[in-house]
Amino acid sequence: RVKREGRGGYRFFSEDLNIASAKRVRLEAKMRHAILHQEFQLYYQAKQDLQTGQLVGVEALIRWPTPEGMILPQEFIPLAEDTGLINPIGRWILFQALKDSVKMSQALGYPLTIAVNLSMRQFQRPGLVELVAEALQVTGIDPQLVELEITESMVVDKVDEAIATMQALRDLGVELAIDDFGTGYSSMAYLKNFPVNTLKIDQSFVRDLHGEACNTSIITAVIGLGRGLGMQVVAEGVENQQQRDLLQQVGCHLGQGYFIGYPLPLKILLEQWQHAESTD
Ligand code: C2E
Ligand code: MG
Ligand code: MG
Ligand code: MG
Repeated sequence: RVKREGRGGYRFFSEDLNIASAKRVRLEAKMRHAILHQEFQLYYQAKQDLQTGQLVGVEALIRWPTPEGMILPQEFIPLAEDTGLINPIGRWILFQALKDSVKMSQALGYPLTIAVNLSMRQFQRPGLVELVAEALQVTGIDPQLVELEITESMVVDKVDEAIATMQALRDLGVELAIDDFGTGYSSMAYLKNFPVNTLKIDQSFVRDLHGEACNTSIITAVIGLGRGLGMQVVAEGVENQQQRDLLQQVGCHLGQGYFIGYPLPLKILLEQWQHAESTD
């Protein structure tokens, strides 16, 4: 705490800091309570084959419902990372997502892929590979249906270690995706060395798609890059028909976004797609 109060700036600054840290302490306590009482939920967002229109998989997105409203991941994942609470939360997410996806595939009558986001701390934790192996074993899911999403920022620091972790995960049979591709420090040079299956193009590139040539050229190039490296390409943040059509035209494999489907609780997502596929 800053004791000198002669200068207003210091005092206000330190009060702001105290308010911010008090908030963090309260949120951390709330988060511990939520873990103990299993208050988190997973929502799922559809991933659609842009050429056939079929639902091919879902991405698990964590939600935290509270009496004051829904707390979004961006509001608590960073603190969960700082405090280490991401480890118990991340473990729950992984097991729950794999269990749910087995149910989804059974309900739809064909195998769906399940994508699970990993945070930096989870990715760098020594026990990750064992944890994933355990989740595969317990749920009995086909490992090929599991896709772990990491971001460029997680792999730029200690590239060799990151590649070793990625390879160990791939050796379990699971797939890897680079999320938010294009927003991180460019790992273009490394991309070919990463044992990843999928590139997820960040929604900021999709947002710029209005049909003008200069807007489509960047995304077309990124899609070409992914395809050229033999990867599956997913566009995130597809919000309208025009974007969806353009992505389809330029050869993007899969799409995700509000136009295709909002993140939803498992049961509602299933109802929507069962209905959509039966009325085709
Ligand atoms: P992400 O993995 O890139 O997920 C995509 C985010 O974009 C999600 O936000 C999703 O709801 C949102 N989104 C989907 N379609 C659209 C669209 O058409 N337009 C717009 N504007 N947004 C769309 P959400 O669920 O708030 O998650 C934000 C981020 O938090 C995720 O980004 C991911 O990095 C992280 N996150 C979410 N769930 C988990 C989790 O279970 N574990 C970890 N470690 N991180 C998570
Ligand atoms: Mg993601
Ligand atoms: Mg993303
Ligand atoms: Mg992300």
